[in-house]
Amino acid sequence: METLEKSGLNIAKIREEFPILDQKVNGKPLVYFDNAATNQKPRRVIEALANHYKTDNANIHRGIHTLAERSTAAFEETRHAVREFINANEAEEIIFTKGTSESINLVASSWGRKFLEEGDEILISAMEHHSNIVPWQMIAEEKSAQVKVMPIDENGDIILAEVDKLITEKTKMVAFNHASNSLGTINPVKEIVAKARKVGAKVLIDGAQATSHLEVDVQDLDADFYAFSAHKMYGPTGLGILYGKRTLLEKMPPYQGGGEMIKEVTFEGTTYNDIPYKFEAGTPDIANVVAFKKAIDFIDELGKDKIAAHENELLSYATTEIEKIDGVKVIGKANEKVSVLSFSVEGIHHFDIGMWMDAKGVAVRTGHHCTQPLMDFFCIEGTVRASFSVYNTIEEIDIFTQALKDTISKFKK
Ligand code: PMP
Repeated sequence: METLEKSGLNIAKIREEFPILDQKVNGKPLVYFDNAATNQKPRRVIEALANHYKTDNANIHRGIHTLAERSTAAFEETRHAVREFINANEAEEIIFTKGTSESINLVASSWGRKFLEEGDEILISAMEHHSNIVPWQMIAEEKSAQVKVMPIDENGDIILAEVDKLITEKTKMVAFNHASNSLGTINPVKEIVAKARKVGAKVLIDGAQATSHLEVDVQDLDADFYAFSAHKMYGPTGLGILYGKRTLLEKMPPYQGGGEMIKEVTFEGTTYNDIPYKFEAGTPDIANVVAFKKAIDFIDELGKDKIAAHENELLSYATTEIEKIDGVKVIGKANEKVSVLSFSVEGIHHFDIGMWMDAKGVAVRTGHHCTQPLMDFFCIEGTVRASFSVYNTIEEIDIFTQALKDTISKFKK
């Protein structure tokens, strides 16, 4: 008989789809808890990538031969699958990029260059990834605009009452993450969008940590832009998505120039292609886009509600277990969290913890997680971060907890 978890998922069977999990690291079975950095790829994604190169590889859109047609069809099929996955109104509102970082840079650079003026304000949050801070600082400097910050409390929740004071007629863009990679906090997107709407500001949501855990409906959220990465949702690395409302994308100038993004080029001047191609200069990452469709299928097949139920079970068990350990302090205690567990251990540097855990086969991330201002807020240099995906198990959390206890006792001797 197959054993189903409380979530209704058969995790043992799911694990069989992930060849990488079946290995020893430093002589111990691998426990992979670095999923917020990138999660592992099911066999169907790996095979789709290889199969594309084995049978269909050709450049897309301009070819009239059979392989070019096949390749183009598979590429555009993923665009349609992404549209459906986030409930965008049209496939043309889906732009393929290199990752969340490039998606945000595209908006900051293209939208910002066209619509920001001196004295305008961009509002971000205190828990942003550097990818959702630096592009705004860059464009703000260019335009003599200002970046302001929504504060958070000790639990890691945005202080909404303060947001009301910060959103003014000067605010032109509100950019924040759907879920935090360092704390796990799930932010109240709709509430913040509603506040932005009152002053006519646009909203960009960094969904890098949300799309593999939460239902995302960009129309329901009323996001103007939604950025995310394939590699954090069981898909290939180096591929990102930018959703943008048609009305905005059409008004924005191209981000990069080159092939594909043009209608006609003469030495006197160039006319630009329609969306989404206007923003996809050059040969895109065709094979990865094709393979990404299989990652979306994987998530859809399991169901986000079941994935979330399983991950929440792991998160709450792991949190309870590590809080029992002397000296461990959980960083990020928001009411609503994705499966990210950040913590520090009194008197032991996070790098030392990470190194000793690795010696026991347990992969966790250590450091500032590209959120240095957030670390400054907590007056720490970094944390140890364990993050869970659908293939992780309660048994693995027991191994992780034991490894943590052993590591701490080694340092306390
Ligand atoms: N935002 C958040 C919240 C993230 O977690 C990450 C990845 N750690 C990024 C942005 C950047 O994503 P990428 O490196 O795929 O561009």
